[in-house]
Amino acid sequence: MQAEIIAVGTEILLGQITDTNSPLVARELVALDIDTHFQTVVGDNEERLLSALEIASQRADLIITIGGLGPTPDDLSKQTVAKFVDQNLAVNQAAMDKIEAWHAETGRPMAENNRLQALYLAAGIALPNEPGFAVGSFYKNPNGPDVLLLPGPPWELEPMLLKYAVPLLQQQYHHEGTLLSRVLRFYGIGESRLVTKLATLIDQQTNPTMAPYAKAHEVTLRLTAHAVDEANATKLLDEMEAQVLAIVGEYFYAYGDDSSLVETVGKLLIDGGVTISAAESLTAGMFQSTLADVMGISAVFPGGFVTYAPTAKEQLVGVSPATVDQYGVVSEQTAKAMAAGTREKLDTDIAISFTGVASGELEGQPAGTVWIGLATRNRASEAYLYHFGSDRQRNRERAVMAGLDIVRR
Ligand code: ATP
Ligand code: MG
Repeated sequence: MQAEIIAVGTEILLGQITDTNSPLVARELVALDIDTHFQTVVGDNEERLLSALEIASQRADLIITIGGLGPTPDDLSKQTVAKFVDQNLAVNQAAMDKIEAWHAETGRPMAENNRLQALYLAAGIALPNEPGFAVGSFYKNPNGPDVLLLPGPPWELEPMLLKYAVPLLQQQYHHEGTLLSRVLRFYGIGESRLVTKLATLIDQQTNPTMAPYAKAHEVTLRLTAHAVDEANATKLLDEMEAQVLAIVGEYFYAYGDDSSLVETVGKLLIDGGVTISAAESLTAGMFQSTLADVMGISAVFPGGFVTYAPTAKEQLVGVSPATVDQYGVVSEQTAKAMAAGTREKLDTDIAISFTGVASGELEGQPAGTVWIGLATRNRASEAYLYHFGSDRQRNRERAVMAGLDIVRR
């Protein structure tokens, strides 16, 4: 089984955007045991897309196009592929209903070209686009390569790929046996270091296969096993997971595609009924804003403080000027006092605090020095020291992630 990925988009050719979708698709194909021999980029141009399809059909059994499913005149993938495989497009009613409902709800008039987004290859299968409107298509072609059409926006492509396209390809090309995936999530280790540590395993392993993905400050590793039935596939996954965790287990924190660090922490707090508050200096509310991404967090998160200057640390959470004078703003003692003061003010089970040097230098300490304090009801306050890098924004983001990791533990 050989695949060719065709990314469609003039913006990619002009260097205005980077093609991040093809690597995503390629890694899933690896897990599916489908070889990718070619990746092509072509502009939003019917003639050139037809010629790319023509070339691909001579060297691939499966052609996957990315982009150009939208409603605008430069979105020609569907029409062009339909022409190429000599099949009609038809309206997918579920997609059409969704488009109409949205226009009715928002009171916007519906332009005729919006219907284009509901079209799919009539002799094939429509793939739902949950965050968007443009449906995908899969067509099993008796006269040439099969075709799979995916949308361009990465936030639309990823869910369609993982939820619909991958299971569909499994079903199409792996009739015998079961293909089972498991996603392991890691925090505190970068993708390259993870891959280096697992290099021997990755090199040796063909079943299960391993695909690492770097997300913002997190890495996920997808293990995919192929076996005669689910029980055997599960056994292969269990064995491989044990080998992986023996090497990088200290960084592992959760399973699954949807459980980011903040989601995991939010769920822990909500399920355990553990209330939390925060006082933030260098992160200035970023931790609390991140936490508030979790639905239902209000049950356990009453609020917190932004305490940028020493006066705010004193007035809002009661950090005495003497503590700051004696130990400094960026110190274990100040971090602990901020957390303890916050916890008392808001009477929460735990409170977390952030104080550090985002950029430049403060009190003789370099950028990236961060103290995170943790106060709990029954134990003495704790504080943890980090040395991040020199990038201001990254230091603030990393502090937030480290704070979440502390709460998780
Ligand atoms: P829409 O319905 O939004 O028009 P579409 O399926 O027609 O989606 P395109 O019009 O080709 O897709 O691309 C829409 C946007 O998606 C692009 O402007 C770009 O930001 C992003 N995009 C498209 N292709 C890729 C790609 N290969 N890698 C990363 N981003 C992409
Ligand atoms: Mg478009």
